[in-house]
Amino acid sequence: MTTQQTPTPSTNGKVYLVGAGPGDPGLITLRGKYLLEHAEVVVYDYLANPKLLSYVPKTAKLIYAGKKGGGLHAFTQQGINQLLVDHAKQGNMVVRLKGGDPFIFGRGAEEIEELVAEGIDFEVVPGVTSATAAATYAGIPITHRDYTASVAFVTGHEDPTKKFSNISWEKLATGAGTIVIYMGIKTLPSITKKLIDHGRSPDTPVAVVRWASTPQQRSVVGTLATIGEVVQKADIKPPALVIVGEVVKLRSTIDWFERRPLFGRRVVVTRTREQASDLVAKLEEFGAECLEYSTIHIEPVDDYAVLDQAIAELGSYDWLLFTSLNAVTYFFKRLYGLGGDSRRLAATKIAVVGRATAEELLKYGVRADLIPEKFTGEGLAEALVKTEVKGSRILLPRALRASEILPEVLADAGAAVTIAPTYRNVPPQGRKQELRDQLESGSVDLITFTSSSTVTNFLTMLDAADSQEMHRLLDKVSIAAIGPITADTVRDHGLKVDIQPDRYTIDDMVQAIVSAYRSKALERAE
Ligand code: SAH
Repeated sequence: MTTQQTPTPSTNGKVYLVGAGPGDPGLITLRGKYLLEHAEVVVYDYLANPKLLSYVPKTAKLIYAGKKGGGLHAFTQQGINQLLVDHAKQGNMVVRLKGGDPFIFGRGAEEIEELVAEGIDFEVVPGVTSATAAATYAGIPITHRDYTASVAFVTGHEDPTKKFSNISWEKLATGAGTIVIYMGIKTLPSITKKLIDHGRSPDTPVAVVRWASTPQQRSVVGTLATIGEVVQKADIKPPALVIVGEVVKLRSTIDWFERRPLFGRRVVVTRTREQASDLVAKLEEFGAECLEYSTIHIEPVDDYAVLDQAIAELGSYDWLLFTSLNAVTYFFKRLYGLGGDSRRLAATKIAVVGRATAEELLKYGVRADLIPEKFTGEGLAEALVKTEVKGSRILLPRALRASEILPEVLADAGAAVTIAPTYRNVPPQGRKQELRDQLESGSVDLITFTSSSTVTNFLTMLDAADSQEMHRLLDKVSIAAIGPITADTVRDHGLKVDIQPDRYTIDDMVQAIVSAYRSKALERAE
């Protein structure tokens, strides 16, 4: 693919001016992502979503060159230009990551001119500019056969009251069907006046969209005559775009982003770092903003003697049980490490606790023989006991510390169970203050728990001085628990469970959350 041509080796420095897109990290180009993955130095902007930096190699140097309106500049434009030149001259592969498109009100050309003057090689990668994103994410098509055949992108940074303007407002006012104004919030009253004075109807619909395509997006609508006041009342601050034109009317039909059921909801996701992404992705699909706190970190155990012995004699086991995704992952890691593969399981029947574990197992080319109706350890125990386990040998690779119910029930039914420690859960360090601040500010709507250990580890991480403080931090927040055991653990700590799905899967939990918010059953106590 031509887009993936290898960047120039680092002996010759090169600068890639890359459009980061408007905010949603999914809106960067494949080329942009590829270059970030190979960057040695990244100089990034205030408007470029910092989530994109996760693509950058850990060894790369990250430099924030944020320019935020209002004089909070980390660097002057001259300073940024110099930064690019210096790092490129040292032979680095430099990515200059800029919000939206680098050549649309992005001063991209000024940076390039400097590189050209210094004889430095460069490339420019376009991005989704915030004008099209803001319009699209606010449900406004910027062109439409019935309404307009032309669009103008204008900067509002230039005050239209100044004597010599680069913008001919008199021509623009009626010359373009849709007018999109960047950086126009501070000068909005004079812009609207100018447009009306030059013949645009005061009734022309106008939308203002702030932080477009992000979970913080906010939009307001009015007319040329009213929008100034609407923006002031709603206290809309930059960065925002102003969209003027009849197409704004279509918002009432097309608005899709802000109408998603979890839009505007902040959800704390407490899972292991390895597993959080699935739940986060699903919640984000419905518009939620997720704050990820991994409460469990999975590590190998120190002693694999039992598991290794069991793997050596795998064929002698009648059943192999998996009660978690991690058990599957770590079991196969060990099996492969010892030189074996899935064929070693040929003579053994396999039971898993639930659908997700079964799917994980399929990745290793192995289909589960038994999945219980109830996706719990007890459910699995019950289902196995029905198969007459008396006298059978059962291998249970699992967490170092785990509930004893399953092996006990099986032993009572006459099975010989080998418990093989395969991985362990350790609570991670850090981010406690950030979590407390989020809760303290009242901006969290919901916390999700997907196992009992996420509950206990979360509360350990929260580190409330006493139960009074815990209630102060958590009483206004709703809680979702994946299943009855997790819910009991929540209640054991004196908290209440607001959402619990009928089936204990991530999909069902997400559906239950969506239904709860759709039915407005969960309005936050103010
Ligand atoms: N090169 C950028 C524009 C930079 S000028 C682009 O192509 O989008 C900065 C202005 O862009 C802001 O003042 C605001 O008007 C607009 N802007 C950038 N990102 C935005 C966003 N996510 N939501 C609304 N406006 C945005």
